[in-house]
Amino acid sequence: MRYKEEAPIPNKRNLNPDGIELSLTGDRNQCRVCTEYFNSTHAFDKHRRNGKCLTRAEMTRRGMTMINGGYWVGAVMDSNALELRSRVRQAGEEEPLRSNA
Ligand SMILES: [Zn+2]
Repeated sequence: MRYKEEAPIPNKRNLNPDGIELSLTGDRNQCRVCTEYFNSTHAFDKHRRNGKCLTRAEMTRRGMTMINGGYWVGAVMDSNALELRSRVRQAGEEEPLRSNA
């Protein structure tokens, strides 16, 4: 199967299969070649190998994983840390961590 490497990215809203719009905020970026989204420049760099993009299967094999419905992160550990952080933040909003009991 031949892949058109220079195919332009359609200028329209990008929705993942769940209908969530993927936006490029902060350090997030999208690859022009494979059109995958990355949560950081580090993750983007990790999916490039010898001037080519890794496939999803190859990225997964290298320990990368997708979070938030469409953003690749460099390592499973990163996504765990991100999820943990958001969980802590959510918990912290409801009940303060400080306890004098
Ligand atoms: Zn790519």
